[in-house]
Amino acid sequence: MDLTAKLRQLFGFAGFRGVQQQVVDRVMAGRRTLAVMPTGAGKSLCYQLPAAALPGTCVVISPLIALMHDQLRAATAVGIRAATLTSADDNRAETIARLKAGELDLLYVAPERASGSGFAQLLDQVDLALFAIDEAHCVSEWGHDFRPDYRLLRPLLDRFDHVPRLALTATADAHTRADILVQLGIPDDGLIVAGFDRPNIRYSIAPRDNATAQISALMKAHLGPGIVYAQTRAGVEKLAEALGRTGRPVRAYHAGLDPAVRAANQTAFVQSEDMVMVATVAFGMGIDKPDVRFVAHAGLPKSIEAYYQETGRAGRDGDPAVAHLFWGAEDFARARLRIGEVEPDRQPGERARLAAMGALVETGGCRRAVLLRHFGEAPAEQCGNCDNCLTPPAAVDATEVARKYLSA
Ligand code: ADP
Ligand code: MG
Repeated sequence: MDLTAKLRQLFGFAGFRGVQQQVVDRVMAGRRTLAVMPTGAGKSLCYQLPAAALPGTCVVISPLIALMHDQLRAATAVGIRAATLTSADDNRAETIARLKAGELDLLYVAPERASGSGFAQLLDQVDLALFAIDEAHCVSEWGHDFRPDYRLLRPLLDRFDHVPRLALTATADAHTRADILVQLGIPDDGLIVAGFDRPNIRYSIAPRDNATAQISALMKAHLGPGIVYAQTRAGVEKLAEALGRTGRPVRAYHAGLDPAVRAANQTAFVQSEDMVMVATVAFGMGIDKPDVRFVAHAGLPKSIEAYYQETGRAGRDGDPAVAHLFWGAEDFARARLRIGEVEPDRQPGERARLAAMGALVETGGCRRAVLLRHFGEAPAEQCGNCDNCLTPPAAVDATEVARKYLSA
């Protein structure tokens, strides 16, 4: 079968991007695979295309109902026969009937449903093409977003041992990748990693003195759409109000807002050419806005993975974009307090993630090199497009501050 022709016909894309073809070829050959591809690289296509091309149904495990519904809309729009099976769907009986009748290419389910015995028995009556495990880092306690339900998937996968499995994630360091392979029973040679570099994003990291002033200055320099991440709902409200006084359209987004307000703000942002969205990290997943010109962090992200994912929402169109992080010593202190409260077995991982963030903010060298090495790449010493490459720092006090707080 000519998959490139199918790709054009179905999605209207000129061809595969990056490692997509490699991943799709393995899946079509029935081989277990873990694909690590940055956000926006096009992971969905890696199972949607095989799902459309192979006989039988591809079961997609996905952690969030909102994400599933986005995916469902996108798949349906290109003519793939897809459905979700969640507590939010009132057409479950119809979906199950379609599934049994072999009328679905794709079925999206949450891990807690997929790991139940009822689901396994349902699948006994279904012709299966593939298991796709999206956001697969959730299966690892080393990952930054461990979900115990993901651990319960293994018996389901093993019950249907002959069905190929494809795990996908954007954010996994070497340790987490190795763990995903073990947890999901994928051989070491099944790992495919895409390039993580986003050369059009200029990274800058600076100590915070006055976040409002620092971010207002950024807004003056960058007139296109921007996202500002604050750490708390109260922080979002305060910053949104202050930044609104610059005259730029500013909206807020956090989980405490009325869902209708949140949805309206998101829609306004997606359609705008100059709006600034001030948000908690709840904002951004599943949003595909190509022309975001800057992403600012008013405080320290909780890991390099989170930083990379959040800054990665800038410049999807390939045009120049900037990512500015403003951090304070108190961010590290707060993070350490938080780590003290998590389960003891998760603390070493959390501490390692904080230390990696510390190394990133502290470095006098190339920021991009630190990022890419974190994801297992071997980058050039200098990227020429980050603060430290453009303006090599004199030995700064920020280094001392960070060191002090990291070693305490
Ligand atoms: P990810 O899950 O890796 O973050 P998505 O699967 O959501 O990425 O895809 C991101 C965007 O890239 C989508 O708008 C998708 O339609 C687009 N895309 C995916 N593959 C291709 C391709 N081969 N050519 C052009 N656009 C693509
Ligand atoms: Mg995705």
